[in-house]
Amino acid sequence: MSYPTHMSKSILRVEASRATRLHESFPMMLPDEKQSILQEFHPDYRVEGMREIRVGASKGQRMPVELADLMEGASHLTSGLLDLEQIDYDTDVLIIGGGGAGSSAALLARENGAQVTMANKLRHGDANTMMAQGGIQAADKASDSPAIHYLDVFGGGHFCNDPDLVEALVKDAPSVIKWLEELGCMFDKEPDGTMTTIHGGGTSRKRMHSARDYSGAEIMRTLRDEVRSYPDEITVLEFSPAIELIMDDKGQVAGAILQNIETGEHLVVRAKCTILATGGSGRLHYQGYPTTNHYGATGDGLVLAYRVGARLALLDTMQYHPTGAAYPEQIVGLLVTEKVRGLGAQVCNVDGLQFVYPRETRDVESSAIIRECNERDRGVPTPSGMTGVWLDSPMIDILHGSGTTEKALPAMVRQFGRFGIDMAKEPILVYPTLHYQNGGLRLRPDGSTDIPNLFAAGEISGGVHGRNRLMGNSLLEITVFGRRAGAAAALRAREISLGRLTLSHLDSWDRELAGVGIEDAVKSPVFLPDYRRQLR
Ligand SMILES: Cc1cc2nc3c(=O)[nH]c(=O)nc-3n(C[C@H](O)[C@H](O)[C@H](O)COP(=O)(O)OP(=O)(O)OC[C@H]3O[C@@H](n4cnc5c(N)ncnc54)[C@H](O)[C@@H]3O)c2cc1C
Repeated sequence: MSYPTHMSKSILRVEASRATRLHESFPMMLPDEKQSILQEFHPDYRVEGMREIRVGASKGQRMPVELADLMEGASHLTSGLLDLEQIDYDTDVLIIGGGGAGSSAALLARENGAQVTMANKLRHGDANTMMAQGGIQAADKASDSPAIHYLDVFGGGHFCNDPDLVEALVKDAPSVIKWLEELGCMFDKEPDGTMTTIHGGGTSRKRMHSARDYSGAEIMRTLRDEVRSYPDEITVLEFSPAIELIMDDKGQVAGAILQNIETGEHLVVRAKCTILATGGSGRLHYQGYPTTNHYGATGDGLVLAYRVGARLALLDTMQYHPTGAAYPEQIVGLLVTEKVRGLGAQVCNVDGLQFVYPRETRDVESSAIIRECNERDRGVPTPSGMTGVWLDSPMIDILHGSGTTEKALPAMVRQFGRFGIDMAKEPILVYPTLHYQNGGLRLRPDGSTDIPNLFAAGEISGGVHGRNRLMGNSLLEITVFGRRAGAAAALRAREISLGRLTLSHLDSWDRELAGVGIEDAVKSPVFLPDYRRQLR
């Protein structure tokens, strides 16, 4: 038996209600209900979880306290101690972070004639992109259009999105799918060769393209292979995180200092243009939440960009995915893809009853689960003291035919099968998990920021998703804006002449910290999470 007795008893209730539930769907919430459940239960609305940042270009903006502490942090470096005349790499375009956004940028920068250097904190492809499961949105079917996609993105983002960024996102989407396919990405197809597309939360059309539930791995494999096939034009450095941006005496960003993780050696990279593609910050575990994110997701690029004066947008909004694994303990926080609900699995409480429409937007769905477990006390307790609700995964085979779960969700089947849980026959237990950084650096549709020669793409950016990203729009964002930033940076690099390199912005930063009385600033970025047990 894979579940303890008290959980198995609750499963019997889920099974008992299944025949009725197959023919009934819980109603969607009305706009007022959504707003009120968000305010009461979504972690973003917990007052003590956020605070205003006291320094920098976006002083006064709210963000999670854990992130604010790092943004107000001090550099690991001191200006003047490094010899910036000793240049280790001289390049047209430096890309910091080689997930999907960075790799797309590298390809387009190369295509536009630039010599590219890509710095990776860990290995090339150790990234959130690699872990993405469900799919990528694009309105490329006759029943759909970029205009309808645009409206869905806006509605999902609570109408706080940057309209120009959304326009770029939805208009480029069909050509991005074509580009990925031409590079070798194997999307799921129907017997007649057309792309298989399904729904995701908040989508009004079936526009989710996927490669089973390994969509991110398939996209990352394709992009990484392509990048690695141009070794003369794209230099890939691994285990070498950027620890500070370099400026020149004309006030332009002019590269970065990297640090070799193994030797501790500092490397000076001079670059005409720099693209930040360092992804998100789930490993900062806001409000103690577990996360779906990869080990290197610690918000480094935000910290570096903020110190050179970049502006921020919407960092007071994080995405908590409604269905993180809540049992067994070994996989707590790992993602249960939205595709499980997309294929028809309903969400049920300890009594086997539905309490929320299964395809509400993620923030609303998460809030409903938190309410069910915490306020209504209708969650299922786990042996380690968590609570969760059931995702009735056996409905998938019942609705779509035996073997569908195995075929459409092989990664999920394996994730639970390792612990003796057959999700095609038994429901799985879930609870919200920290998943995505909705906000980030402000950017223009070509990926440029306010700071000369500094570009950004991917999860590090803020604005395109407003206050809530819809499933499948991030894999889209990283390719759309990675490509745009790569092309724009390469073109810009042709026009630039750099001045003398300097880290003097660190002195100004230290003065600003001192000016508001921050004396004991933590050193940031942190690069990796610290999971060492604190012994007293
Ligand atoms: C489990 C999971 C499932 C998901 N499923 C989907 C999905 O189905 N559809 C969808 O659209 N989105 C999905 N997402 C979101 C999406 O995958 C990510 O938002 C997106 O891939 C981020 O891409 P990126 O290139 O911006 O960042 P990443 O892919 O995270 O790449 C950033 C890279 O930068 C590196 N880096 C960080 N700091 C530094 C530094 N200081 N110096 C050098 N390198 C650095 C990191 O190590 C990493 O390699 C999912 C995310 C997760 C975690």
